[in-house]
Amino acid sequence: MSLIEHVRPLKNKLTAIRRDIHAHPELAFQEHRTAELVARHLESLGIETHRGIGGTGVVGVVRGGHGLRAVGLRADMDALPITERNTFAHASTVAGCMHACGHDGHTTMLLGAAEALVAKPHFDGTVYLIFQPAEEGEGGAVAMIEDGLFDRFPMEAVFGMHNWPGMEAGNFAVHTGPVMASADRFDIRFTGVGAHAAMPHLGVDPVVAGAAFVQAAQTLVSRVLDPIEAGVVSVTQFHAGEAYNVIPDRAELCGTVRTFSAEVRDRLEQGLRQMAEGIALSHGVQVDFQFRRGYPPTVNTAAEAALCAEAARAVAGSERVFTDRRPSMGAEDFAYFLQHKPGAYVWIGNGPGEGGCTLHNPNYDFNDEVMPVGVAYWSELVRRLLGAVK
Ligand SMILES: [Zn+2]
Ligand SMILES: [Zn+2]
Repeated sequence: MSLIEHVRPLKNKLTAIRRDIHAHPELAFQEHRTAELVARHLESLGIETHRGIGGTGVVGVVRGGHGLRAVGLRADMDALPITERNTFAHASTVAGCMHACGHDGHTTMLLGAAEALVAKPHFDGTVYLIFQPAEEGEGGAVAMIEDGLFDRFPMEAVFGMHNWPGMEAGNFAVHTGPVMASADRFDIRFTGVGAHAAMPHLGVDPVVAGAAFVQAAQTLVSRVLDPIEAGVVSVTQFHAGEAYNVIPDRAELCGTVRTFSAEVRDRLEQGLRQMAEGIALSHGVQVDFQFRRGYPPTVNTAAEAALCAEAARAVAGSERVFTDRRPSMGAEDFAYFLQHKPGAYVWIGNGPGEGGCTLHNPNYDFNDEVMPVGVAYWSELVRRLLGAVK
C-alpha cells in the first residue's frame, strides 16, 4: 500500500474540517474559533496541547519512542481581508474575509498529520505541531518566537508547507536556498517651497525631485546589484499637488523592495537612502527617508531541503518532485523560524489556477484532493527526520 493510501481513510473527515474552517475565516491574531477548533481536535487525539502562544497560536506535542530529538512542523491559520466570490456551500460566511491563501488547508493537513502520527507513533522523538497566527503580513511567527516557542519547545529543525496553484495537484517543489523573498517598504517625503506655477523661480519644486528619484531608483537593480543576484525596487505611490497652477511644497513617494539575501537587502536599503539624499541635495529640497523592514527572505537549509525532497519522492514518486523551480518574489512569515533553526518550506501543487483559483484571488479554494498527499508527506518526513523506533 502506498503512503498516500495509508492516510486516505482520513480524507472525508479532513475535508469536512477544512470546509468548516473555510466557511469561518478569521483575520490575523483573531483566529480564536480556528485555534479552539485546532486545540480541541488535538486534545481529542490525546495530544498534549498548549494554547495562546504568541496570541492565538497553538502547539501540539506528539511523542514516539524514547528518543530525545525533536522537530517542528508548522501550519498557518489566518485568512485575508477579501470578499469571497465563490458560491459553493462552504464559501465564507464572514463578509470581507476569506481563506484565499489556503491556510485552511494547511491547518487541516497538519491536523491530519497529528492523527496519522498518533495512530502510528513509529518515530523516535518528539514532534511539535505549530499552528501559527497571522502569517499574512502581521508577523505571527515573530509573536510565537518572542513568546518563547523555541525555549518551551526546543527543536532541532522546523518545516513548513504551502499550497501552490499553477502546479499540478500533489506535485512538490523543494528549493535549496531561497524560496521566498524579503518584503520591505519605503516612504520618502521631499519638502520644497510652494509657489505660483507661473513663477517657479520663487519656489523649490519637490515634484521634479520626486520624478528624478523615480528615474534614478531604476538604476539600483541594473547598476548596483551583482547581475547574478535578484532584486525588485518598485515605486508604487507618488502623491503631490492639488491644483493646475500651484507648485506644491511636498511630494510623497512609497514603494516596496524584494530580495533573496541579507546582503542584497542591505545594499538596496543603503542605495535608496543615498539616492534620496543625493537627489534632495541636488534639487535643494529637504528629504525624510523611512525604510521599514518586513519579512526577511525565506532560505531553506540544504540538508533539510534534501530530506524534504526525499520524503516527497517517497510519497508522490520522483517524477512529481521538482528541485529546480525558481523561487517566488512573494514573502512568507516562515522566514523568521528559519532565522533561528535549520529547516525547509516546500510547495505542494494545488492544481491549475483556472477560474481565478490563484493565491489571494476572490475565487480561490484549497484543493481537498491534495490533503492525503500533504498528510502522507508530513508523516513520512517525521519518520525520516527522527528515525524509526529502535
Ligand atoms: Zn497569502
Ligand atoms: Zn499563504
